[in-house]
Amino acid sequence: MRAMAEPADQIHARAVAAGPGGRLPNPDFVTWESFPFEVVDGALVPKVLAAPTDEAPRKGEGGQDCFLCADEVPGVIWTNERWRVKHLERSGLPMVLMLEPIEHLDLPDLDDDLAGELGRITVWLSRIMERLPNVERVHVNRWGDGSAHLHVWFLARPTGLPNLRGTFATLWDDILPPGPEDVWREDLATVARKLATHDGRAQV
Ligand SMILES: [Zn+2]
Repeated sequence: MRAMAEPADQIHARAVAAGPGGRLPNPDFVTWESFPFEVVDGALVPKVLAAPTDEAPRKGEGGQDCFLCADEVPGVIWTNERWRVKHLERSGLPMVLMLEPIEHLDLPDLDDDLAGELGRITVWLSRIMERLPNVERVHVNRWGDGSAHLHVWFLARPTGLPNLRGTFATLWDDILPPGPEDVWREDLATVARKLATHDGRAQV
């Protein structure tokens, strides 16, 4: 096994070759209401804040029609009795994983045992991902505005690409073209195998 996230020079070469003049196309999120900027008279400026509205219901609110409670959840790479780690579709960052409770719970619903376990798995998974070659940092996030079932994001930020620092890594994940599938799959298997040395079972 040769788990090795891509080095910065390969990501850079792939990205600048993918669009004319090295510029990649706009991602979908620039059309979202929540995207904060727009071009007015040729200048990029913040949008005028929209008027208050009722909150839209989240997917799976109250456990109804929750796609994370389905019998078959795609992309699972590791599980124990209470938690699972899954990958999303291949994207611009070298690896994006989600940690979710099996049971329909949101973050404030966790009892002290589950809260402790969330902390331990978060530390294990962050350490394992940050030790992959060419991964500089793993950003851990919980937003939860879309789905009521807890899903904690783990976003691996590559070493040596200054545009990708901080919160902007989440945007570049949608902007950059995905890397090689074989490298990604090897890295997923490595992370699952190492996590299983702490607890649970690798599923890939
Ligand atoms: Zn659920």
